[in-house]
Amino acid sequence: MTQYDVIVVGYGFAGGVAAIAAHDAGARVLIVEKGKVPGGISVCSAGGLRIAADADEALAYLIATNAGTTPEPVLAELAKGMAWLAEFARTLCEPVGAKLDVRPSPANYPLPGYRTFGFAYVEDFPGFDPARSYPDVRGSPAGARIFEVVRRNVERRGIEVRLGTPAERLVLADGAAAGIVAGGMPIPARRVILACGGFEADPALQLQHWVLKPVLSAAVAFNTGDGIRMGQAAGAKLWHMWHFHGSYGFRHPDPAYPFGVRVKRLPDWNPADGLREDIAMTWILVDRDGRRFMNEYDPYMQDTGHRALEHFDPIRQCFPRVPSLMLVDAKGRERYPLSAPTWNDAGVAATYRDSTPREFDARILTQADTLPEVAAKFDIDPAALERTVAAWNEACAAGRDDAFGRPPGSMVPITTPPFSAAAVWPIVSNTQGGLAHDPQQRVLDAFGSPVPNLYVAGELGSVFGHLYMSGGNIAESFVGGRIAGRMAAGA
Ligand SMILES: Cc1cc2nc3c(=O)[nH]c(=O)nc-3n(C[C@H](O)[C@H](O)[C@H](O)COP(=O)(O)OP(=O)(O)OC[C@H]3O[C@@H](n4cnc5c(N)ncnc54)[C@H](O)[C@@H]3O)c2cc1C
Repeated sequence: MTQYDVIVVGYGFAGGVAAIAAHDAGARVLIVEKGKVPGGISVCSAGGLRIAADADEALAYLIATNAGTTPEPVLAELAKGMAWLAEFARTLCEPVGAKLDVRPSPANYPLPGYRTFGFAYVEDFPGFDPARSYPDVRGSPAGARIFEVVRRNVERRGIEVRLGTPAERLVLADGAAAGIVAGGMPIPARRVILACGGFEADPALQLQHWVLKPVLSAAVAFNTGDGIRMGQAAGAKLWHMWHFHGSYGFRHPDPAYPFGVRVKRLPDWNPADGLREDIAMTWILVDRDGRRFMNEYDPYMQDTGHRALEHFDPIRQCFPRVPSLMLVDAKGRERYPLSAPTWNDAGVAATYRDSTPREFDARILTQADTLPEVAAKFDIDPAALERTVAAWNEACAAGRDDAFGRPPGSMVPITTPPFSAAAVWPIVSNTQGGLAHDPQQRVLDAFGSPVPNLYVAGELGSVFGHLYMSGGNIAESFVGGRIAGRMAAGA
């Protein structure tokens, strides 16, 4: 039997980069991946790597946005990594003919250090067609491009990959990781790196850790928290399991469509700079009582958009904002499609590969000529809905949303029939809780000591415990993956 130095569990960004780093440090590496194709969530992501010009400034921002949830030395390693990440990504891009573009882009909130950040994207990859190489994926081509860079680097190195091979358990010897069990058979290794993603598709873990329920997965069915359970069996400490990157969106009427459909993403805006005046958000959300309850356009709506839905009413013992109702008028409906579906899933792709966002809208949204008709269709008090819309239209005319602070430029009146509406649910793009680790990506046990020979990388050990930073998950998959790979190889 081959003796591996390092087994990497999971083949998204984190697993791919960890394997490359371990291989380059001289280790004999095996990647095991549950799916029949590699890519995980990574391949359907928007592909932006968060980078930083200055590591100290980046650290100041990460400390502020993590609010004490993650130890500073761990954040310091990520901050340093964001400063070398563009250079490292270039060393992967160049040998495979991809071009990395770098541009400044301040982080989401005006907290210390936020201006030091930028993004790196693979904009240009001659000869690579995401739709042909990843036909089961709907996401941004930029995500597929940077994943393809990682995949080709794994391939060029001749790293052994076993697809369709879920790790079931860790092999533990005297408390130390000594391999994995897959297909009921042990595969021994000196070190193990868990890079098998989060628990987007595990309702049982969500039920125990999240207030909101149900929360629909935005894109994948395979990240079922396996790494969390394997880590726990080795004594791992968990951190900030409550935190997920999410938003609000729709449930598809087709029962065979297993994912939530995120609502169209409008540009992020920074509270220090305000929102550009020409960006219109065509909808409002109301709760089960027909009342607005939130600023529908948070600065980073794709991250915190679900949080206002969490309210539990202890008198009626219900979540009156789950589902909420999205309302838009005829002009708003015309302006742009509201559905922004994503997936990495062969079954969904087989049926929906050619469906446009407008076609999704047509399945998801219900039309009615009057507001009382809308209310009747969704079992909401018609008078309350009419009052809410009248107040909204007055706020639009005044150019101010005193109730919830919607950015004025985004406010659009709801006046022109027919009206369209849909139930709106919380959606998880990816989870941020998981296995606690130290700056060397060693998994920590419940008392803070490293579990021997066990490492974690990517969103399974995400550091983001309070406020997420756009592009931060891919950055930590690369930075943490590289560190875990080198450390596990003994470099
Ligand atoms: C639509 C969308 C867009 C996004 N855009 C961005 C973005 O632009 N920037 C950003 O920073 N983040 C973004 N994110 C988040 C980011 O893509 C992920 O957090 C990141 O890619 C996670 O990488 P990973 O390698 O840790 O996990 P994954 O890419 O999910 O890989 C984990 C792999 O482990 C496999 N696996 C699971 N269990 C097992 C097992 N038992 N044995 C073996 N294999 C297993 C899975 O099949 C999967 O392939 C986005 C997320 C979504 C949903």
